[in-house]
Parts: sequence; C-alpha cells; structure tokens
Amino acid sequence: MPSFDLIIKGGHVIDAANNVDSLMDVGVAGRVVGAVEANIPESQGRRVIDATGMWVTPGLIDIHAHCTGFSGAMFPEEMCFPYGVTTMVDCGGSGWRTFDAFNRDVIQKSAVRVFALLNIVGQGMEGDVEQDIDDMDAELTAAKIRQRSDILVGVKVAHFGGRGWESIDRGVEAARLSGSFCLVDQNSKPTRPFDEMLERLRPGDGTTHCFGYGKPMIGNDGKVKQSYIDARARGVKFDVGHGNNSFSFSMAKPALDQGFPPDTISTDMHRMSLHTSRAQMTEVMSKFLAMGMPMQEVIARSTWEPAKWINHTEIGTLTPGASADISVLEFQDRPSGLSDSGPTGYRIMQADGRLINQLTIKDGVVKFDYDGLSKDDWSATPETDLDIP
Ligand SMILES: [Zn+2]
Repeated sequence: MPSFDLIIKGGHVIDAANNVDSLMDVGVAGRVVGAVEANIPESQGRRVIDATGMWVTPGLIDIHAHCTGFSGAMFPEEMCFPYGVTTMVDCGGSGWRTFDAFNRDVIQKSAVRVFALLNIVGQGMEGDVEQDIDDMDAELTAAKIRQRSDILVGVKVAHFGGRGWESIDRGVEAARLSGSFCLVDQNSKPTRPFDEMLERLRPGDGTTHCFGYGKPMIGNDGKVKQSYIDARARGVKFDVGHGNNSFSFSMAKPALDQGFPPDTISTDMHRMSLHTSRAQMTEVMSKFLAMGMPMQEVIARSTWEPAKWINHTEIGTLTPGASADISVLEFQDRPSGLSDSGPTGYRIMQADGRLINQLTIKDGVVKFDYDGLSKDDWSATPETDLDIP
C-alpha cells in the first residue's frame, strides 16, 4: 500500500523554518505533509509529480492583498491560487462594523486560507469613511480582534489624509489592547513626518509600501535614512505591498544594495495592481531576484517570515504534520521586463527570467496546475460510448 497520496519528486525544496535548501522529495498524506526526504520511492505514492528543475516551497503567504472593501478587491481564489499563494491577509478592507459580513460573504466561501487585518476605521476601507476620525475606535477594534482571533491577526491604518496622528496612534493602541500588531500605510506630511511615525511604532508593528515614493526610505544622499535603520533595530518591520502606486526600483535597489531588504514580500493585490504592474506574488518575488536577492531569501520572505509576523507558525513550512500547502515554482529563463509602479512612471528592470507558479496545493488538494504536472496524458482517456443519439 502506498504511504502517500502524492509525491513531489526531484525538486529543490526550500523550507526556511527547517533550514531545508536542497533536492528533496515531498510526500503528501491526505491533508498534511507526510515526509520531506532525499529519496521517497515512487512506489510509495498513488500519484507522482515530477518537479525536476523546479523549486518546491511552502504555499506562499501574501501578507498584503485585498478581497473586500477596497474598490479593486478580488475574490481570494482568483488572486491567490494561480500565483502559488495558499494564504492571504486581507489588509484592512473591513473594520469592526463590517467584518462579520466580510467573513460570511467572502472568507467562509473561499478555499484560500484568509486572515485579516482590521481597519482602525469601523467601516473599513470604503472611500470617504476612511477620513472619519470619530469612527477610529481603538477599544471596539481591539474587542473585535480578540473575539475573532482565529482570523483577525492585527490592525491596519491607511489613507488618512488629516494632519494629525489620530489614525496611527489609535491603530497602535488597538494593537496593544488586542495583543496584535499594527501595519501602517501613511505617506509623510509636514505635520506628520515619517521619521516620527516610525518612532511611534512598537516592535512587531510595521509599515507597508516600504519602497513607495511617499515613504521616503532613501534620502537625497542616496542612503537609507538612519530613522529606518534605528526602527528596524527596535523590531519595526517593513513590508513590500507592491500595489499599483507603491513600488519603485529606484527606492528598492539602493536599499537592497545597502543591506536593507524588506521583512516580507507581498503584492497589495487588487485589480489595478494586477493589470498595470502584474503585481502578483511570483512576479513581485521575481523583482527581488532581479535585484540580486538570493532565492532562499526570496522564498523565506514570502513564506516563513510572514507566518511568523502574523503569529501563525503552523503554516509557511513543510514540517511533517503541517497542512499540505505547497507551491511548485519554475524560473523561466528568458529575457524579461519587470515593471515597477507609481510616481516613478512604471519603469522596467530587465531580468534574465522570472518565476512562474506551476502548481498550487492547498490542504493536499491540487488547486492550480499550469502545465498539468499532476494530470494524465489525454491518450489515457477511458473508452466511452461516443455513439450518443
Ligand atoms: Zn493595500
């Protein structure tokens, strides 16, 4: 009797949680990872997938994407499974007033594992209501996070156009009260300078769109600002959140060259970012490869690092017994133009190739299969009676 329902054979496995970075086979038993070993005999699997020449990783975790609230939000399946993502974090689309409807209508209907950051605004990320200071209630936000700690992993602060610190301070307070973290998307203003904002964040809090032009990581001298270096030393985190307007090679490349990589790689995916910049997970990862980040680091910052940040270390790893969330990625070796986004003008970086997602497995079930790696050849179609009147 085969021990495994599925064996992924011959791929290069990267599992940062277990320091695995070598050619390995992965055996899947039911919904969980059964084994990661150098050579699992084919006879042990009901189905064998040949991953020779490919990268086998824990299912990717996109810590910043949008499946509610925001105008370009998409349903989780179509924005995650085709790109190797098995877990996404909705980044503040709902607030304490709107979370239950979001959960009922989207999260519970999705096969993607969806966590969420709760917007500090009770109504969530819905146009003008984001400016309503009176609807930024730290205690009610924290109470909802504590009530639904199975899904809600933190607080989101975004897009507040006012002069003051209300949104940021109340977001951090809600995170403190709920024992979670606060992720901030606020551009610098004369009355609300970014350096001072970083000082208001606690260890474990962070900013997203970290290489966007409105978040001035690089100064006029071309150097990463000391305030960023100090914040990181205190435990403040930095997320990519590529998006439609928020990722510039002219910020990211010097930062990486100076030893300031992002903690997590994420898409900020919604319809506009997907279409204008192809800001899906494997494409954003490809941009970091093109800038010189080693594959091992790119994978870790797209799997294990976000898992740790959201305090869900049961995912983002291929530890035997963990949910069999697995991505099989391929580096397509051909000249590729990779686009950034935003005020720098949607410029491209020429690369030797790009990562594409070949196969997405969630809880042991194949959810996306680009080249049919898990399927039989058409010639094996069983004979059927085609002479139907
Ligand atoms: Zn976003």
